Amino acid sequence: MTLINDFLSLIYPRHCEACANSLFKHETFICNHCRLNLPKSNYHKNTENELSRTFAGRVPLQNSLCFYLFEKNGKVQKLLHAIKYQNQKELALFVGNLYAKDLEKEETIYDFDVIVPVPLHYKKLNARGFNQSEWFAKGLAGGLKKPLDVSSFERTQETSTQTKKKKYQRWENVEGIFSLKNKQAFINKHILLVDDVITTGATIEAAWMALKDVEGITLSVASIAFAERK
Ligand SMILES: [Zn+2]
Repeated sequence: MTLINDFLSLIYPRHCEACANSLFKHETFICNHCRLNLPKSNYHKNTENELSRTFAGRVPLQNSLCFYLFEKNGKVQKLLHAIKYQNQKELALFVGNLYAKDLEKEETIYDFDVIVPVPLHYKKLNARGFNQSEWFAKGLAGGLKKPLDVSSFERTQETSTQTKKKKYQRWENVEGIFSLKNKQAFINKHILLVDDVITTGATIEAAWMALKDVEGITLSVASIAFAERK
């Protein structure tokens, strides 16, 4: 084990990605203190939550899940920043696995048929090199033993949904951002749509515009973090 740990410490940075403290040998990516103390949403234990309220009347969701609650300049923001800007896809994978462990502990039966990350536009994907939502989704899919689908759904417009426009303008803005390449794959399926951060919910809403006409589709969402509107 020592050999493996020593080997891992050569590959992975040996400080916590949330609090920057040094990691002990048995720790990877996130220190035990942060694992226990980062602000978890526990929305899987509370189905009437802030995330489900965000989508009420906009997107019909079966499960509204997110791992952490986002706080400006907090540790969760540091974690997300490390994933997104330090090219740490393995960290996203690790966080996905960690969340799957929490979800598995519950009695709730998640009947997702397939896990689908919110796709990036190919230009953005080429620029960044990876889709952070996809790697988080991969961690979740591995942990929950559900299939991952990264090819049936695509982003056809680069348009940012995180605009400060008024709600009705945003609505006009979201149609046609995503498109379904393989409708067959989603017919009568329960899709767990996975994003890195949910704020206004505009991205998920845009995705739903492209999915809602699929026969028998059920949608749930999961994200690494949710920025609650105060
Ligand atoms: Zn830490």
